[in-house]
Amino acid sequence: MFQIDALPAFSDNYLWLLQDHASRHCAVVDPGDAAPVLAWLAAHPGWQLSDILITHHHPDHVGGVAQLKAATGARVYGPAREQIPARDVALVEGDCFTVLGRDFVVHEVPGHTLGHIAYYHADAEQPWLFCGDTLFAAGCGRLFEGTPQQMNASLQHLAALPDATRVYCTHEYTLSNLHVAHAVEPHNPAIAARLKEISAWRAAGRISLPSTIALEKATNPFLRCAETSIQEKLDERDGPLQRSPDEAFASLRRWKDNFRTG
Ligand SMILES: [Zn+2]
Repeated sequence: MFQIDALPAFSDNYLWLLQDHASRHCAVVDPGDAAPVLAWLAAHPGWQLSDILITHHHPDHVGGVAQLKAATGARVYGPAREQIPARDVALVEGDCFTVLGRDFVVHEVPGHTLGHIAYYHADAEQPWLFCGDTLFAAGCGRLFEGTPQQMNASLQHLAALPDATRVYCTHEYTLSNLHVAHAVEPHNPAIAARLKEISAWRAAGRISLPSTIALEKATNPFLRCAETSIQEKLDERDGPLQRSPDEAFASLRRWKDNFRTG
């Protein structure tokens, strides 16, 4: 049996814990804090943390790496283009490696940070994507280092993955993202339905992730910049313009940055 669970950290981070029950080995993605992982290991005697996968250098993603490696001897994978504490394996676009008997391929997805990578496990039935702070459910990461062009290209790159791909993002931002998505596309029934569903889930304390690529293509405005409905909404806000897809993305990102709910 293979299992992927979220360990909550800080106010809204998830550390994704991959568990291979046959070997009793586990791996964690973006452990910004060692404590939730060490607590899980203490509660599951006989399990060993063998691997740590890092998407980018922000402290809420790497803060626990050195302590976890010291405590467990886990191997640390991370982007070659960023400073990652205790990194053993430096990864670039197209690199392939095996963790817990599963193959992963690396996609470079600059924008949130310049060296940001995503981890993709190709599988005929159930592919997975660990995309850090690049693609969020119904949203995308802030542009701390990259340009709108870079982030838009990175998101298009991820959107080209199979529809069934499960998307494991690292923050619980879905509900606030859906409020923005609903404002951008008030007549999109998939967004309205998802907003209703996730509102109920969050009220019940339920996690909103993972998402899927299919669901994101239907409800994430940042993957839908070329849609007429979004272009018309941007015309309403910014005046009628000829926009490239990158300019539409940049305008949406500014809107999101300034959005206030309630
Ligand atoms: Zn980040």
